[in-house]
Amino acid sequence: MAQVCARCHTEFRGAYAFGLYWCTVDRFFVCRRCWEERCGEGHGSGAKNLSFRGISALGFLVMVTVVAAPWAGMVAYDYSTLKEWNAAPIVPVGELRLGQIAKVAGVIVSNSSIVFGGREVDTDGGWVWSWDATGSFAVTDGAGTVFATMERWWEVGPGLHPAPNAVRTSGTVYMSGDRVYMIGNVASRADGTLVFFVRILSPSPADPAPPPILLAFIALLVGPLIPLWLWAGVWWHGRAVLHRRAVNGIPPVRILEGAYRDPSLSWRPNRKSISVRQRRYVTIVLVAIFAALVYLTTFLLNLHERSDEVAPILVISFGGLMLVVLPVLWVLYGGGLPAAVAFSERGFHLWYDNPYERQLNDDFIPWAQIAKIEFRDAGRYEKYWYLERTTGEGEDLDKLSAENLRALTAEWKRRTEHDLQGGQAAVDA
Ligand SMILES: [Zn+2]
Ligand SMILES: [Zn+2]
Repeated sequence: MAQVCARCHTEFRGAYAFGLYWCTVDRFFVCRRCWEERCGEGHGSGAKNLSFRGISALGFLVMVTVVAAPWAGMVAYDYSTLKEWNAAPIVPVGELRLGQIAKVAGVIVSNSSIVFGGREVDTDGGWVWSWDATGSFAVTDGAGTVFATMERWWEVGPGLHPAPNAVRTSGTVYMSGDRVYMIGNVASRADGTLVFFVRILSPSPADPAPPPILLAFIALLVGPLIPLWLWAGVWWHGRAVLHRRAVNGIPPVRILEGAYRDPSLSWRPNRKSISVRQRRYVTIVLVAIFAALVYLTTFLLNLHERSDEVAPILVISFGGLMLVVLPVLWVLYGGGLPAAVAFSERGFHLWYDNPYERQLNDDFIPWAQIAKIEFRDAGRYEKYWYLERTTGEGEDLDKLSAENLRALTAEWKRRTEHDLQGGQAAVDA
């Protein structure tokens, strides 16, 4: 994505395209520097509050959607699978075809009496019945018989018989002679006989049913996003048209990437900041991690049983997303620190490694323009060093290292005192 400032016509790319301001007076997008210097932060009409970084709000909406997507996907998968389980027509065993996903009804035929059971497990929430990881049996519907395996089961409804090994829970088992319903994939063995990989097994086709809370969850998650996207679309379209009209026919000014800082100054290193190159790599890596995460979530959901495995998948998915979102925020908003500063006879110099930051920030403040440097204490979380210019413009000095801040203050004090003495000497004479 690229966006041109309508005043200086500088082209901003990537994350910086999201950082432009919408000027409600001029009705076009401007960069931060033009917003401050040429739009006077709202043309003196107190319009500052009316204008906001709408494009970055759009970026935020994209991120929220991206975060919500796997969650909605998980719940939707759960809901649609159970819905399908309830609604799918029953396929006669004799008509099962390789590769098919089918629902089958029949009677379990086996030499052993218990064909599928489980064991009691002590969890933080008390004792629970945990179905076995696998099991196998034949199912016949009179006209045909198919061999079923439980090694990929996703959900199992309570069986018809109490489990003999259930003491603390009401665990159940499936036995030979039980009438069952099952949905699953039809595969084949090496010798060509069909195998039925059961996904859901239950004595009743109506159970398990999708709980209404799942639907409510999707509605709650996806519901607000739809009007937000509609609103964003309308918002964006109207402004994009006006902005395009303002910059139409004017060639964009490209950001100069390969600039060098003045070698005649003695530069002092400042706080570490992320470079454009690093930013690009980090972005690519984060997008890759995110894609892998979505894939992993889908894969895990498809492979494992529903009840036991969804919670860890939620943790993996949510934890992974946090791991991605936090660095994304850092990449988007954490790049604006000067890499080095220098003092000269003329004033205070700042160097930004990032060419976009060089465009957006002043790289030089004359000594004569510094009205005061002071510590501001505006509440618990608003303590910061502040530089006020004679023009009234201000600068937050938190972007300087403590050492450079001390040096700047000392240097500025020395010069103003020197000037005062010089002035006094002139008066005395
Ligand atoms: Zn501009
Ligand atoms: Zn303006």
